[in-house]
Amino acid sequence: MKTDSTPPQNSNGTDPLERAIDGVGVSPGIAIGPAHVVENRLGDVPEYQIPTSSVKTEVARLRSAVAKARRQVEKLEAKATSLPKAIAEDLVLMLEAHAGMLTSSRIVGAAEKRIEERRINAEAAIQAVVHEVARTMAAVEDEYIASRVQDVREAGARIVRHLTEKPYQAFSKLPEGAIVIADELSPADTALMDPEKVSAFVTAVGGPESHTAIMARSLGIPAVLGAPSAPRSIASGATVIVDGEAGRIVVDPEPHTIADYKRKVEARDRLERQLARLRTLPAQTKDSTHIVLHANLELPREVEAADRAGAEGVGLLRTEFMFMNRVTLPTEDEQYETLREIVEGMAGRPVTIRTLDVGGEKLATALGDKIATSANPALGLRAIRFSLLEPKLFETQLAAILRAAAHGPVRILLPMISSVQQVRVVRKILNKVISRLKRRKVPLPETPPPLGVMIEVPGAALVADALAQASDFFAIGTNDLTMYTLAIDRGAEQVAGLYNPLHPAVLRLIQATVASARRNDIPVSICGEMAGEPRYAPVLLGMGVRELSMSARSIPRVKQRIRNIDVAPAARRAEAILDQSDEGRIAALLDDFNEGL
Ligand code: PEP
Ligand code: MG
Repeated sequence: MKTDSTPPQNSNGTDPLERAIDGVGVSPGIAIGPAHVVENRLGDVPEYQIPTSSVKTEVARLRSAVAKARRQVEKLEAKATSLPKAIAEDLVLMLEAHAGMLTSSRIVGAAEKRIEERRINAEAAIQAVVHEVARTMAAVEDEYIASRVQDVREAGARIVRHLTEKPYQAFSKLPEGAIVIADELSPADTALMDPEKVSAFVTAVGGPESHTAIMARSLGIPAVLGAPSAPRSIASGATVIVDGEAGRIVVDPEPHTIADYKRKVEARDRLERQLARLRTLPAQTKDSTHIVLHANLELPREVEAADRAGAEGVGLLRTEFMFMNRVTLPTEDEQYETLREIVEGMAGRPVTIRTLDVGGEKLATALGDKIATSANPALGLRAIRFSLLEPKLFETQLAAILRAAAHGPVRILLPMISSVQQVRVVRKILNKVISRLKRRKVPLPETPPPLGVMIEVPGAALVADALAQASDFFAIGTNDLTMYTLAIDRGAEQVAGLYNPLHPAVLRLIQATVASARRNDIPVSICGEMAGEPRYAPVLLGMGVRELSMSARSIPRVKQRIRNIDVAPAARRAEAILDQSDEGRIAALLDDFNEGL
């Protein structure tokens, strides 16, 4: 089989079409199906007049979209240069052309001028300029220049996509079993995928801890990210195999390769069936310590999967989905209905509803330009910081949560808390909303839901005692805790190798948080991706964690591991691990413990 890194081979004297592309496997599973390559094409764009007073804002909106498009191209370029020369050359040339066009005054400058002179929206201005430039280029009798027309269109389409933040709605029209291949997919794009229709997806950029990866895992869609040559070297309609575990894409596979992968699919299915039998068995260690296993929900439709996996509740409901893929904000009633359905679906089991955690890589069209782009979005306006700046939006969400809490046990969880003061302010707002709802005679639970905080900022872990006194429970978000502790972007595949929740600094912060929760007698759980990886179970249990929340699909495998662990030796091994300062030694101590189970 040809790969990105090996030369072509001959089989039976003919040149096989089959070739492999490697990327980062972020969501396990194997899919075989027809490729659907998402093209960067200028489709229909909205066109409208703007008042003179909005011209400046419109130009700023255009500049911000151009900057985002440029960053996307830079990311693709960085990724492409790490590929073998022969493959990288064409790709880099094309991306350089795109980067040039995104800086060229011919396109961007001309579009700005058009907005100012004709008072039209930025999308329409870009579209008009691109058509004009493309027409002139096509008219030149030079093959090379004519061939660059496509680049102009693609660069324009990139800008328009960032302007409209338009998701790939076309997913709904895909043939069953299609494998989506795109430059980049946002968490909002991924949320639109129906696992019955999309059997896998592949992108040029993206890392294993990104929200897109989390969404793929929770929908159970195999995915490979960080495969830069894929969108341009795979034709729509070609047969493709995606191995989301190995991070491999096989294009135009030969019959024997398809047969091999089909056998792997059968073996996986057998394993899944065996694991499904664990559903009714207790999540209990060998020495009878009960471990609470909760599910993380990204989308309401996952309630069924949580139930099937035997989740004892929802440890993290990410409410961002309610704000994605829509242009207007959800009303209190709409939010209440959605939440009520989830609470009722969990039939008496607790549901931990996290307030809106937008910002960073999680953007929501409905919020418009309320979250301006900044140089370091992960450190900027995000999560609770945003909610406290937008009290109306926050109060609406709290009201919806409180109303849903009348239908079953609910806990409220605050994302990205970094100070005690933030919790105090939220409690005041919450009490105000409760009084207002009481005046409206709206049915509410007898006692207000517990109010918890996510520990995902290192500073929060270090003041955990104070936060424990101000709140009712902790949920440790190891995804962000690892990112912020080690200063590694969780979504960037270039630094993915440095992202390590087993880094001693991360482990010590988790341990300090767990110890503080115990001292203050409040529940503590882990709800980052670390909780769903069986390998980490001994060190987490050994540090005193008794509650884990993960994608529903991970529950059986984690439960299986837990049932093989004795708490006392796990605690001794965790102690030995926490004495280490070397990441490699920590991994070895943990793997050795797991092997002995
Ligand atoms: C985390 O940061 O670990 C977490 C659970 O939150 P999210 O992944 O949504 O940022
Ligand atoms: Mg987080």
